[in-house]
Amino acid sequence: MNNLTRHLSRAVNSIAPSGIRKFFDLVSQTQGVISLGVGEPDFVTPWHIREACYYSLEKGYTMYTSNLGLPELREEIAAYMLRGFGIEYDPADEILVTVGVSEAVDLALRSLVDPGDEVLIPEPSYVSYAPGTVLAYGKPVLLQTTADNEFRLTPEELAARITPRSKVLVLPYPNNPTGGIMGREDLTKLVDIIIDNDLIVISDEIYCELTYNGRHASIAALPGMRDRTIVLNGFSKAFAMTGWRIGYACGNPAIIGAMTKIHQYTMLCAPIMSQMAAIEALRHGEPRMREMVEEYDYRRRVILKGFAEIGLDCFEPKGAFYTFPSIQVTGMTSEEFAEKLLMEEKVAVVPGNAFGPSGEGFIRCCYAASLKQIEEAIERMGRFVTRHRKK
Ligand code: PLP
Repeated sequence: MNNLTRHLSRAVNSIAPSGIRKFFDLVSQTQGVISLGVGEPDFVTPWHIREACYYSLEKGYTMYTSNLGLPELREEIAAYMLRGFGIEYDPADEILVTVGVSEAVDLALRSLVDPGDEVLIPEPSYVSYAPGTVLAYGKPVLLQTTADNEFRLTPEELAARITPRSKVLVLPYPNNPTGGIMGREDLTKLVDIIIDNDLIVISDEIYCELTYNGRHASIAALPGMRDRTIVLNGFSKAFAMTGWRIGYACGNPAIIGAMTKIHQYTMLCAPIMSQMAAIEALRHGEPRMREMVEEYDYRRRVILKGFAEIGLDCFEPKGAFYTFPSIQVTGMTSEEFAEKLLMEEKVAVVPGNAFGPSGEGFIRCCYAASLKQIEEAIERMGRFVTRHRKK
């Protein structure tokens, strides 16, 4: 068969496979690896949530739901958004249940972006925003953030990158891969620029429950921002439900309606059994979720102490379950460091440049791993850093 690449769309040909996945093919071929690589809770979904799914199957809930998602789930999401962040959404037309936040990112971008529109994306950040923009025929415009400023987006950087084609700003906080957060004051500084330039914000708040320095602030709660923000959230991280594939989007009915049109033709609805489980998570899942967050916080402190001891500089992340230490002391590139560390000491981390050019010189270490694994990984990394420290 001929090479069929030329038959593929230009958009698909122009995007690269995820830098995270590429690295994990290597990991799966190596024995005895400790992985701080995958961004996924090491906890199993709490039992009462799994049980709700079993019961739903027993009762015969095996059919499609409304495109928007089960009304009971949308009501629970509305109640959660109100009690958690003080934002009111109407479950009738302002909430859409999606197949993970992944689908919601795609729907939001495709609903908003016309060919050539610019999407402003702070980086380093999660790997899907820029390719998602390209697949919507938009142009990703990367906004730089720095370790000195704890990877927050500054109003100066935002203002400097705006052009007449700017249409959407992605706000990825708490941040994957850095663990950086944006507090209410940080967000407030962006509001005038967003409103003056008529931007729509896609605020990916999937890590909103994983904060270690007070409660997460949503930009949608700030004056003038509710209707120009799409809040994306889901169950994967806070409730340890990655495999259930459940997320949601909240926003103005015009935008949620547009996203629903694409969703109804591509996904139809999220799986009913996962939706039933999600209802249980929101109704009764908070105590166990808080316990998991406390456990992450403890591990976060252990890993940070470990980095300090082995001489890797790392700013204190206040959210998500990632640390983003600088590897400058070795003089290696991020990819070189990650590959050598895997080969020599069998510890898997993700090269920082997989998340954008500002990630070069850093690695992402996920601490959603057991304490024993974290301690062993630190010991191995300590040996590695000592061996490769720049002379
Ligand atoms: N957004 C961010 C910032 C993520 O880190 C991830 C997963 O790692 C996702 C979205 C995708 O989440 P989901 O499992 O809900 O599709």
